[in-house]
Amino acid sequence: MGFAINGQTQLIGVIGWPIEHSLSPAMHNAALDALGLNWRYVAMPVRPDEVVTAVRGLAALGFRGCNVTVPHKPAVIPALDSVSPEAEALGAVNTLVFTRDGEGAAHIAGHNTDVAGFIGDLRANGFEPEGRRIVVVGAGGAARGVVYGLLRAGAVHIVVLNRTVERARQLVEDLTQNDRKQEARGKIEGADNENPASCIAPPASCIAPPASCIVHPLTDETLVELARGADLLVNTTTVGMWPKVEGCVWPEGAPVPADLTVYDLVYNPPETRLLRLARQSGARAIDGLGMLARQGALALDLWTEQALNVEAVTALMRREAVSLSIVRDPSNPMLRSRSQYQSVAALCDGSAVPASPRRRPRRK
Ligand code: NAP
Repeated sequence: MGFAINGQTQLIGVIGWPIEHSLSPAMHNAALDALGLNWRYVAMPVRPDEVVTAVRGLAALGFRGCNVTVPHKPAVIPALDSVSPEAEALGAVNTLVFTRDGEGAAHIAGHNTDVAGFIGDLRANGFEPEGRRIVVVGAGGAARGVVYGLLRAGAVHIVVLNRTVERARQLVEDLTQNDRKQEARGKIEGADNENPASCIAPPASCIAPPASCIVHPLTDETLVELARGADLLVNTTTVGMWPKVEGCVWPEGAPVPADLTVYDLVYNPPETRLLRLARQSGARAIDGLGMLARQGALALDLWTEQALNVEAVTALMRREAVSLSIVRDPSNPMLRSRSQYQSVAALCDGSAVPASPRRRPRRK
């Protein structure tokens, strides 16, 4: 049970437009309760033309921080005093940390925990990206963090497939240019290769770093052919998301390679049609709730400045999000397996989330 709000309650939250369907308040408040913190997390609808005013207002009001979601991730940047290297490279911020200096002046720092959320969740599921060949479907905001994280984690070959190929080309160009600036790896190859399979199986000289990163138009044939030579397929499109749950980027009737790992960033429903097909073909299927929970746990770690047990907080937030997804969406196929899940209260009893007694010094 949470604390009653009183004069010592610390505030955090999320800004977006719209925001009312966000799972974050429930996830974070469950974690705050389990950690025994007198903090509350609230969802705040902020109009696109008022983002900078809102962020400065939150800092002035003494909020400890906030998450930033669609469509504000790039738009908050002008309001910030500092930006982390990831957020700068991506041009997207999902976490703000508000602090005060010795004179009491507010400092607003921008971070991006989506990248570490995605890569951390991959690794937690036993997939190490280093040296792997990866197909990324989609080239929107989420794809940027995914491709950036994969390049940083040492993926050897990445193909970005998108319906609008120009958007994919721009994504790769932006990220690999940033990569070069930061002395990282990555180069762009041509987008018009007539034989997609040859892209995923580059000559031996390409297999060693620096990684290659290429783009293709998204078609059924290209996707199936490229996936055949890949280790991991990541869906970053909105296809399959509620309410259009029958949508699927993978073509009807084509078997998913059994040795492929399939990761779907869509988390509502937790089991998308793509993941269902992957499981039915014997492929490994990973849903987007782990990334959602992990980016939340990493943000909480930044705000509370405690040495949180990120794994335990991630697990708790994930369970909360699964429970909510099941309850909120009656058409959700996971309803069939609801008996696998206990009540939210039982799942969030806090026993798995020990707050570390070791406190980090408060940042100036
Ligand atoms: P976005 O910027 O709007 O990008 C949407 C992407 O989907 C674009 O690549 C778009 O292609 C593609 N797309 C949309 N409809 C399509 C269709 N009918 N056929 C083929 N491609 C289609 O969205 P986003 O912010 O990147 O989010 C994408 C998804 O990731 C959402 O479901 C979101 O909830 C999820 N997400 C999950 C997490 C997590 O923590 N698990 C984090 C972030 C995002 P075009 O460029 O051709 O339009």
